[in-house]
Amino acid sequence: MKIVLLGPPGAGKGTQAKSISNKYSVPHISTGDIFRYNISNGTPLGIEAKKYLDKGHLVPDELTIDIIKDRLKQDDCKNGFLLDGYPRTVNQAEALETLLEGLGTKLDTALLIKVPKSFIIDRMTGRRVCKACGASYHVQFNPTKTEGVCDLCGGETYQRADDNEATVSERLEIYDAQTQPLIEYYSNKNLLTEVDGTQTIEKVFEDIVDILGA
Ligand code: ADP
Ligand code: ADP
Ligand code: ZN
Repeated sequence: MKIVLLGPPGAGKGTQAKSISNKYSVPHISTGDIFRYNISNGTPLGIEAKKYLDKGHLVPDELTIDIIKDRLKQDDCKNGFLLDGYPRTVNQAEALETLLEGLGTKLDTALLIKVPKSFIIDRMTGRRVCKACGASYHVQFNPTKTEGVCDLCGGETYQRADDNEATVSERLEIYDAQTQPLIEYYSNKNLLTEVDGTQTIEKVFEDIVDILGA
């Protein structure tokens, strides 16, 4: 199963990705997690990417596309993958298509998690993320069982530096300008599917399973 998850920041992509990855045994590939991992390890990629993440801007396509090229060639992606946060520009989507063609395969679906803007600020400012595994929680909507500790791996949870109101507004504007056009892009290729992301986390996942198949 080869899936792209679409939706604005805070739609619930990362949250659903963990469950999808578990159920369908496909690797969860989050470009945001890859950048944050490199930033916390101080790699050259991390030092470069940090400039953009801190402002809520997109990391340039050349860098991002290269990361995905390397990642999708790895063995664990042979039977499928779940991309979360990539593509974010039409240019990235075209690069993905070319890459998959080269590997003799194609996407099964681009799954859009639809959430109106009015939900986003609350979701983002209450988000807590696991330092170790990237799992997403919410202080109110999806708290960890023990405060500050990841339910899945016991890692420490923290608030992302870019999850403040000002940066979130910037990210939403960038989403509208650069990422939203992907909805039409995948719709034109008859690959778009959608779920209502305003429902509970469990109900959103049920709807996703209805689309992907039990
Ligand atoms: P994305 O990866 O799309 O940016 P996340 O999965 O990190 O989004 O979710 C953003 C925030 O909203 C997190 O704090 C998460 O716990 C919370 N969240 C995710 N899905 C829901 C939902 N269906 N209802 C309420 N809160 C949710
Ligand atoms: P969110 O959960 O809010 O959707 P992500 O964790 O996916 O956020 O991304 C965080 C940041 O990482 C983005 O604001 C951007 O700076 C960078 N980033 C992640 N994926 C991409 C991408 N495909 N292209 C460019 N920048 C990206
Ligand atoms: Zn964890």
